[in-house]
Amino acid sequence: MFDLIVRNAKLLDCEDLKDIGVANGVIQEIGKISSIGKEEIDCKGGMVLPPFVESHIHLDTVLTAGNPRWNQSGTLIEGINIWSERKSSITVEDVRTRALSVIHKQLAYGCLYIRSHVDISDPKLTALKALLELKEQLAPFINIQIVAFPQDGIISCPDNQQRLEEALRMGADAIGAIPHNEYTREDGVESLKLCFRLAEKYNRMINVFCDETDDEHSRYLEVVASLAIKTGLARKVSASHANAMALYPAPYVNRLINILKDSEINIITCPLVSSVMQSRYEEWPKGRGITLIKKLWKGGVNVSIGHDDILTPFYPLGTGNMLQAAHMAVHLAQMTGLEEMNETINMITIRGAKALQIEAEYGLEIGKPASFILLSEKTIVDAIRYQSKCRYVISRGKILCESVPSHSNILLKKISK
Ligand SMILES: [Zn+2]
Repeated sequence: MFDLIVRNAKLLDCEDLKDIGVANGVIQEIGKISSIGKEEIDCKGGMVLPPFVESHIHLDTVLTAGNPRWNQSGTLIEGINIWSERKSSITVEDVRTRALSVIHKQLAYGCLYIRSHVDISDPKLTALKALLELKEQLAPFINIQIVAFPQDGIISCPDNQQRLEEALRMGADAIGAIPHNEYTREDGVESLKLCFRLAEKYNRMINVFCDETDDEHSRYLEVVASLAIKTGLARKVSASHANAMALYPAPYVNRLINILKDSEINIITCPLVSSVMQSRYEEWPKGRGITLIKKLWKGGVNVSIGHDDILTPFYPLGTGNMLQAAHMAVHLAQMTGLEEMNETINMITIRGAKALQIEAEYGLEIGKPASFILLSEKTIVDAIRYQSKCRYVISRGKILCESVPSHSNILLKKISK
């Protein structure tokens, strides 16, 4: 007896519609199911996908745009300065309320796996405490990973070394670094070595903010890849942003992509935020602000898409909808081919899962946890176009969210008869 049967679902790579049978929170059957379930949902040909994966967000900074003041220049540096002011007044309750509000939005948009960076430059580690509590509270249904992120650097801000260790002891899943923001090139390299040493000591993943700058001389991606090879940490390592790569000359890019592929590290791109934050210096010609998504993908590198900030001093918009981030990637990376658009969906699902190292529990397969999302749309193209909320979001067999599709009654048809 199935607890839940989802009928007439359009699965990727399947022509026929399928039924999915769920019992005890696990996918038991995929095919044509003749028995009756305790609960049934008819997808009517709508797509069923594994849950969306948000591989890069900052839940500690969300919903703070305009407080204490608006980022009028829109630049990264003004954003960092405003956040420095705002973070001096944060409390556990403040972070918790804002983060939970955003997680509920993400849930409605089908996101059940979230990797959040948390700034650990605060001596009291207030935001970290708040998010670790939320992580534990929501763990039965939503998987939150926490990256200890030293916003002010590790070598430039030596106090952050102890705070990083404390954050790892408290339970952060991954450790970060921001080499391009250290005082010198050498300091940047040293900060990465320290980051890798701590990851090895505490057996954690790594997620570096890497080359998030319009300076083509910022070349830390090769250092991250090289350390990932030497330490054997390989696919446990991710590099976010990598914007400077778009400005590197072709011979170097080709060499770099080979190193990245060999290292097996993940690249996480954030097209919404980067499109407005980067390329602020030049009047003309103006870059697109993002890393070379298509070239990396074609070169065999695992690329995932993050939504990143939501209403913060760094980005004054955002909804938590991963399809919105994919939509922006389609535009900026010029990925409008059918295979290319399918790939952008991979970048917010299976490729994100690979970056988060959750593949063992992730995916629409018999024997895996029954966590998946039902969309009204029947094709990838429509999903990217409409960016609708999910009809249903199901985690381990439990329906966590149901949304009613919006409908417009076109009265013009009657009037113009
Ligand atoms: Zn970010």
